[in-house]
Amino acid sequence: MPTVPLVAGPLDLDNDLVGLGFSSEGRPIFAERYGTPGGRRVLVVGVIHGNEDDGLKIVDELRQRDIPDDIELWLVESMNPDGVANQDRHNSNDVDLNRNFPYKWGPIGEPGDSQYAGVGPASEPETQGMVNYIEQLQPDIALWYHQDAYLVIPSTGRDGRIRARYAELTGLPLADCCGGGGIYTGIAATWARQELAPVEGVAFIVELGGTTSAAEVTTHADAVLTIGVEG
Ligand SMILES: [Zn+2]
Repeated sequence: MPTVPLVAGPLDLDNDLVGLGFSSEGRPIFAERYGTPGGRRVLVVGVIHGNEDDGLKIVDELRQRDIPDDIELWLVESMNPDGVANQDRHNSNDVDLNRNFPYKWGPIGEPGDSQYAGVGPASEPETQGMVNYIEQLQPDIALWYHQDAYLVIPSTGRDGRIRARYAELTGLPLADCCGGGGIYTGIAATWARQELAPVEGVAFIVELGGTTSAAEVTTHADAVLTIGVEG
């Protein structure tokens, strides 16, 4: 793990490595910057559900890439390092971090439940660190990798157009998730869209499959850079 200063509060985003905070078990959460400072800010979060970690491969691929001009690419390999270490969906407080964000948060379940939302909005240190970071970063496009529904959920406006383009580029179906009609609260991408711009903000989930081949990793890294260029 890199040694980085960890700051809760104002972040110095004019660095290639920025500490966002600590997990509940004390693991650092950090962001890496690539590309052109001042360019279009594209944020990729490799993991939020710890046992859905194929996004790590895509983050690692993006680290190796030449970044097109005018993109400031930010990579958070995992906002749930405890979940990755423990191969658990949740953080180490048994909270589903993708139900813990502070937009339309609602109580779901209890510890031990798959979608336990925590004791309140942004109750978890991992959520707090990401909220603090995204509020300051103001990315133009943000995406989170998950598994294994193998789809991108459609949306409207600019968000919908860019999601559809990502689906086209990767071959993922553009389809409703998980039976559709479910009411999910405290979702990271939904919070981010509101935070970034209620009309034009772009923040979405990419559901990879159960396994992600090397060819698919390449395709997804290409797609991130393409939507970044096209905007
Ligand atoms: Zn997930």
